[in-house]
Order: sequence, then structure tokens, then C-alpha cells
Amino acid sequence: MLTLNNVKVVLVNTSHPGNIGASARAMKNMGLSNLALVQPKDFPSGVAVGRAASAVDILESAEIFDSLEQAVSDCALVICASARSRKIPWPMLTPEESATKILKEVNANKVAIVFGREDAGLNNDELQLGHFHVQIPAEKNCSSLNLAAAVLVICYEIYKLSLRSISKELIKDQDHWDQKLATNGEVEYFYKHLERVMIAIDFHDPENPRQLIQRVRRLFNRIRIDVMEMNILRGILSNVENAINKKEN
Ligand code: SAH
Repeated sequence: MLTLNNVKVVLVNTSHPGNIGASARAMKNMGLSNLALVQPKDFPSGVAVGRAASAVDILESAEIFDSLEQAVSDCALVICASARSRKIPWPMLTPEESATKILKEVNANKVAIVFGREDAGLNNDELQLGHFHVQIPAEKNCSSLNLAAAVLVICYEIYKLSLRSISKELIKDQDHWDQKLATNGEVEYFYKHLERVMIAIDFHDPENPRQLIQRVRRLFNRIRIDVMEMNILRGILSNVENAINKKEN
């Protein structure tokens, strides 16, 4: 059976508590219940409660985090909603495609959909935590939606697809992989390890990074690495470190 319990909506650094309340309401309308807030500017708030209407329970159970990295560390699929395209292009999805992707793996993995600040969206470091970006098509000269409206559009696509019989076929698709996918938190440890080794072998100069880390992140985000593969890579890195240490001693 399809369950949307593994989907979480993450709002980053929201300024207006009304937007948090309206987002919670949109989520409840569309059958979602897990809300995560990263450094909300004004929360808890009566304004949020007022705008949430019958979705106050979602506000009450919302999890609060210090960073987006922490908020998505248990998720194996992260999709960042962004109105703008960025310097290094990232795999982009339409709202319909992201709904398909999410329903395909939601029974096996925790999934996050991430929304940015009202004034500045998500920064580049935050966007790089996503496997995909989703853009809601909108008029060129007015392409940025109100935060809660953007949440509604994305959640609506998920809900709409979940009601269709095709969603059963999508769930069947997910059984094809023999290993569990690594979570964002596990992959973050790997990136830190890889960065250490790349510095130790003089491949990477943090003073002159030339977008190396972004490109490495994009590579592994695209692969969707599993836990076994992650352990192999971590093992290789540890042996490289051991070999360096032996040489130095
Ligand atoms: N002025 C900001 C937009 C902020 S809107 C900017 O230029 O980035 C607040 C959030 O709503 C965005 O960070 C994004 O997560 C979501 N959002 C708004 N419009 C969107 C769109 N057209 N497509 C995808 N997400 C959108």
C-alpha cells in the first residue's frame, strides 16, 4: 500500500509565520503530515496557528533544525524547489516528474521536498544537498510564487498522482534495487572524508576550489549511491589515508 508518511516538507529560514501556517494547511489538504522547519525566524506563532486552520496538529508536531543538512540527513531522496536556475546546472524536474519520482520510492526511502526563504530562496550550498531541483512553470517576469502556494502546487501533484491507479505500478518499480540507498547524512560523511583525502594527496586546494566539491556532489547525487557502494568507497579512502600515513612515518 502506498503511504505518504515518509515524505517530509522542509521550510528553510522562513520569515513570515503565516507562510508556515498556510504551508501546513496545504500539506494537510494533500495528505502530508511531516513538517520540518530550519531556523524559522518567528515560530511558534499565533499567526501560524491562525493560518493553519485545521492543520494545527502539523505545526505542533513540526520538527525544528539548525541546518538543512540536519533536516534531510535521514532522507535518501531530496528535491529542492527553486524558481531560478543556478550557475552549475542541476538535474531539473517538473512538479509532475517529482511526484512520480517520490511515489516510486516513498515506501522504501524517506524523501524531503525543500522550500527556501521568501526573500532569497535557497542558497547554493543548500541547493547542493538536493538530488534534483523542481521548478514550477510560471510567467518569466513573475516566476516566483508565494512560499505556501509553491508548497501547495508540489504537494497537489503528489496527492493527485497517489490517487491514480498508476501509483501502484510505480511502487512495484521500486523493488529493483538489492541494497538500501545511502541517506544524505551518510553521503555527507563520505564527502567530508573524500575532501580530506583529496587535500592530503594535493588534488584539492580549499583556497582555490574551482567548483570541485560542487561537481563531486553533483556526480554522486546523480548516481544515488547505495549503502554497500558507499562502504566500498569509504574503505578505499581509509586505505589511501593509511598508505599516506605509512609513507610519512
Ligand atoms: N525570491 C526568491 C523566491 C522565494 S519564493 C528567489 O528568487 O529565489 C520562496 C520559495 O518558494 C522558493 O525558495 C522556492 O522553494 C519556492 N518557489 C517559489 N516559486 C517557485 C517556482 N516557480 N518553482 C519552484 N519553487 C518555487
